[in-house]
Amino acid sequence: MIPIAEPDLGSEELENIIEVVKSSWISSKGRYISKFEREFSKYCEVKQGVAVSNGTVALHLVLKSMGIGKGDEVIIPSLTFIATANAVSYCNAKPIFVDSHPDYWCMDPEKIKEKISNKTRAIIPVHLYGHPCHMDTITDLADDYGLYVIEDAAEAHGAEYKGRKTGSLGTVGCFSFYGNKLITTGEGGMCVTNDEELADRMRLLRDHAMSDDNTYWHSTIGFNYRMTNLQAAIGVAQLKKIDGFIERKRKIANRYSKGLNDLIGGDLIDIHPEMSWAKCVYWMYSILLKERDNLAKVLEKKEIDTRPFFYPMHYLPPYKNNEKFHVAERLSKVGINLPSSTVLKNKDVDRIVQVIREALS
Ligand SMILES: *Cc1c(COP(=O)(O)O)cnc(C)c1O
Repeated sequence: MIPIAEPDLGSEELENIIEVVKSSWISSKGRYISKFEREFSKYCEVKQGVAVSNGTVALHLVLKSMGIGKGDEVIIPSLTFIATANAVSYCNAKPIFVDSHPDYWCMDPEKIKEKISNKTRAIIPVHLYGHPCHMDTITDLADDYGLYVIEDAAEAHGAEYKGRKTGSLGTVGCFSFYGNKLITTGEGGMCVTNDEELADRMRLLRDHAMSDDNTYWHSTIGFNYRMTNLQAAIGVAQLKKIDGFIERKRKIANRYSKGLNDLIGGDLIDIHPEMSWAKCVYWMYSILLKERDNLAKVLEKKEIDTRPFFYPMHYLPPYKNNEKFHVAERLSKVGINLPSSTVLKNKDVDRIVQVIREALS
């Protein structure tokens, strides 16, 4: 089976892990955590990094640190992974959904304004499948209404909007280092920001809100959201290779696009977009297909793994409502992720293209 995603690990990760085990600093103290925070935030062109145990809690930690809670509303795209919505719910706040943009699949910035109320506190744009959101419109709106912008960049490490890195474009950027993400620490996440006060608040809440100079004094209810030194050691090694990973992802995307481009208009509705203002990192190279589920079955028989697009949040039991989000609904029905890992060989991509071409002919 050609998997949809596979971590790209090497001897550097192993060497770092061996060093950590030998040092016995395997929990959440040790030199790799601050090193990973420093190096990853620098990579994102941001001053502060707060490493956490996964991407979901990165979002939760940010919302909590901003004081978002009961009675508040947070605007998110309907088409996203459920973690974005759940992090809002964990705070007893309410996620408010927005439709997607038909051209690049992320939240449609023109449809945000009508969702802003006097309860709105923040907007969470999600850089879906590696393509950045149109951030200027979103941050302008947030400035006008005094809202925070929290980028959910869990799928878009190193992606760029008008030459600037995702994670550096809002108040805070949240990343995931799950095994299928652009770089991985097994499980892991990070919040990056230029707001030093907010970063300090996140560090406090990450560690049960324990006072730095008064052990076991807790000023409020915090969490254990710490990353381990073992995870950070893998992260430091992964980060060294991120530019190569992105280059490979873009080459794979280019190969898929070249191989499928001429079929657009028939059963193939569209291929993974990249807007002129964007550098997409193609976390999951994706296409839109009229008979999506049929093709998924054909590919499965040929031992090629795929994933359908996410269900829109407003379809799911915890978030069900009767609003219509036509673009998100349509994308969810026709979108499919193809194998996209950096370890994929060119001949694998060519075979997948061939199978798709045959199935669609
Ligand atoms: C993966 C992902 C997350 C959550 O990350 P975890 O590390 O799995 O908790 C959040 N948002 C989006 C859009 C994701 O794809």
